[in-house]
Amino acid sequence: LAMYEAKALGGNRSVRFTAALRDRMAREARIGQSLQRAIRDRAFVLVLQPKVCLNNPAQIAGAEALVRCSEPDLAGIGPADFMPVAERTGLIRAIDLLVIDMVGAFLEELRTRDLALHVAINLSPESLRQAGFGAEVLAHAKSAGLSPETVQFELTEGAVIDLQSEARGNIEMLLAEGYELSADDFGTGYSSMSYLQQLRLKEIKIDRSFISRLGLDNGASDAIVRATIAMAQALGLRCVAEGVDTDAQVVWLNAQGCEIGQGYHFGRPVPPSVFLETYLQPGAASKPPCRASR
Ligand code: C2E
Ligand code: MG
Ligand code: MG
Ligand code: MG
Repeated sequence: LAMYEAKALGGNRSVRFTAALRDRMAREARIGQSLQRAIRDRAFVLVLQPKVCLNNPAQIAGAEALVRCSEPDLAGIGPADFMPVAERTGLIRAIDLLVIDMVGAFLEELRTRDLALHVAINLSPESLRQAGFGAEVLAHAKSAGLSPETVQFELTEGAVIDLQSEARGNIEMLLAEGYELSADDFGTGYSSMSYLQQLRLKEIKIDRSFISRLGLDNGASDAIVRATIAMAQALGLRCVAEGVDTDAQVVWLNAQGCEIGQGYHFGRPVPPSVFLETYLQPGAASKPPCRASR
């Protein structure tokens, strides 16, 4: 167990079994138990963060679905803390499917009001590695009334997706059904152009870490982001900037030809009812509409 934890902390370096490590393991065990209860009680809620057109930020391009846990023991703990535990304990699969159900319920409510929204749903690399997950995603999407016209899936680039593994088959099933895929946290993993091509991605989301350093690190992040946008354009991919936080970033990214932005500058993740009131007008976009800006 100590070895396992040492690995989880990064690399194969031998790590002494310190008090800090013991505390961390105890904390993870507590989170794991609370997560198990949360799944049993369906104690998760959906929040949505707007994606906007950078050439006209008043225009909503869609939303990203993000999950929050409402289990009292996990109050104040966000996905950055509980997702890694959910992944190590295998609970992530149930959470990913629950999010699909919740997005379906929200889009159904929008339909009754004659509104529409394009929603991006995160799929964990851990879930994708499991046999049968692709079929489960399609089954949940179908019974939740979702379709390739209304949702897309985000696959994080942070974990290398082994194209020969079970993940490949799961991804192929989603593609065969017509779902569009987006490369999340782009630039943080090991993706190559061939990965983008093989997974037939339609969108890349440049990781927040690059956006937050724009103009701050002697041009290094500027160069990386500029090159990433150019690559997306050359490959015909939609380009999204994550973690947009300032007006200067908006102006610069738009000038570089990046089409879509997401970040606290435009809006934090909010509950569905708040999203509806704040961002949706009758006749709102049902598809990412920012491609025309190219
Ligand atoms: P992600 O998919 O890259 O989601 C974006 C995260 O960045 C969200 O954090 C969002 O609140 C945060 N963010 C957006 N704009 C800004 C900004 O301007 N500044 C800062 N500092 N942060 C910003 P969140 O909701 O805590 O999620 C963290 C990660 O947890 C997600 O990263 C994703 O990897 C995972 N996650 C969240 N919800 C789900 C889910 O439903 N399913 C799966 N599989 N993973 C999820
Ligand atoms: Mg995401
Ligand atoms: Mg992201
Ligand atoms: Mg991210």
